[in-house]
Amino acid sequence: MPTLRLANLIDGRLQAPHHDAWLQVHEPATGAVFAICPDSSSLDVDTAVEAAARAAPGWANTPIEQRVHLLQRLADLIEARLEEFAALESRDSGKPLSLARRLDIPRAVSNLRYFAAAITGWSSESHAMETGMAGTGAINYTLRQPLGVVGCISPWNLPLYLFTWKIAPALAAGNTVVAKPSEVTPCTAALLGELSIEAGFPPGVLNIVQGRGPTVGQAIAEHPLVKAISFTGSTATGARIASMTAAQFKKVSLEMGGKNPAIVFADADLSDANLDTIVRSGFANQGEICLCGSRLLVQRSILEAFRERYLARVRSLRVGDPDDTDSDLGAMVSQAHYDKVLGCIEQARNEGGRVLCGGEAISLPGRCANGWFIAPTVIDGLSSAAQTNQQEIFGPVVSLIPFEDEAEALAIANDSRYGLAASLWTQDLSRAHRLAGQLEYGIVWINCWLLRDLRTPFGGAKQSGLGREGGSDALQFFTEPKNICIRY
Ligand code: NAD
Repeated sequence: MPTLRLANLIDGRLQAPHHDAWLQVHEPATGAVFAICPDSSSLDVDTAVEAAARAAPGWANTPIEQRVHLLQRLADLIEARLEEFAALESRDSGKPLSLARRLDIPRAVSNLRYFAAAITGWSSESHAMETGMAGTGAINYTLRQPLGVVGCISPWNLPLYLFTWKIAPALAAGNTVVAKPSEVTPCTAALLGELSIEAGFPPGVLNIVQGRGPTVGQAIAEHPLVKAISFTGSTATGARIASMTAAQFKKVSLEMGGKNPAIVFADADLSDANLDTIVRSGFANQGEICLCGSRLLVQRSILEAFRERYLARVRSLRVGDPDDTDSDLGAMVSQAHYDKVLGCIEQARNEGGRVLCGGEAISLPGRCANGWFIAPTVIDGLSSAAQTNQQEIFGPVVSLIPFEDEAEALAIANDSRYGLAASLWTQDLSRAHRLAGQLEYGIVWINCWLLRDLRTPFGGAKQSGLGREGGSDALQFFTEPKNICIRY
């Protein structure tokens, strides 16, 4: 198959990078290069930002119906090529094709449709005042105006899903966008860029600059014409972006790392279906979802029985060619990440952890012989303070931690610098509400996981996040409120 050659989308045209420099894109399942992606420079970012700045007044004044029409048209075009998008996403990221088909691409379509609908139903506030004198008063109303040019920077784990989660509200709210997908998984964003031309977006409204974080990402974050940065990625990069943008007082929304607890009480309904969800919460997408529960807290009174059932399920997960419909887990996204995860497993052993299953790389026959596969791994015997239970591994590795009672469960769950998402398994309604209020997490799932309503605030506490995405939070982030006060 010929190597795929990706392009930047700048000012409504597909363009090669100024310096004609390219990055290799690997297929994780085979380790082979299958695409090349622009290794853009700050020059490309400057050109994209200038195009976005020229397009900004026109787009801000485009009637909402027209903006909505274009977003819906883009959603339709992606949906019409869902199979192609899913195959590309799976090939680029190593995730099972079935997952890309079922989750990633449909969700990208939903993101575009959701924000098209949300902006239609959005309204701003009005506050009436009494001045105390008969017949006089004042009315305040709030305008929520687009910011102008905004930057959207996304990671590799849910490439199109998280890319559209940012560009859809930004565009719906009337901003022009300079977006940068991860250089590790650039393909589906590039295809979306092509379709945005077909959909009829005016030149400069959506620009996609491909390339590395420290060059392209940094240039977007630092550019004085870029008014806000919406970022999803690691906490280390989020901290860098926060400091880069601070001196310019840019708006920033940061969605970062996690070390999420899944807490199982003795009174939980552990039906097969619920057990499956608990297993999925650790290993879906090879554990490369920021919301995965990588610390599994289990009440000691059911520990032994639960562990046996849980391990049996985990051992039955199939690691295989992402193209096979019966593969539950595919390949790790890159050689570097594969090495990192294997290093974390080694570290867990060195800390005294006991590997209950997995714990090693997997070699597959045939076309996947050189792919980056790791067996689903469960470890126990480590205290909450151990590195394995504190650092984000972001792979198919779950650490089992027993607890005695509610107080201890809460203490262990909150013993983290992160605070993205917790899941809680119990049939005691009072306990569920009590703990939900005390868990230091931006999202708490009770007797479920990854059940998402796009209207809800999405994001993390502590070092997992700053600000919230989703619903009206995203539209508020991408607009500047202005209060107008009229006395009568
Ligand atoms: P990353 O921080 O390495 O990269 C994320 C994006 O930032 C990429 O596009 C990258 O090119 C860019 N970038 C890197 N350095 C930059 C810099 N100096 N300036 C500007 N941009 C820069 O993260 P990753 O490895 O791609 O993704 C994995 C991480 O993302 C994990 O920590 C995971 O928890 C997190 N994540 C969080 C959420 C969430 O919603 N909280 C969702 C998905 C992933």
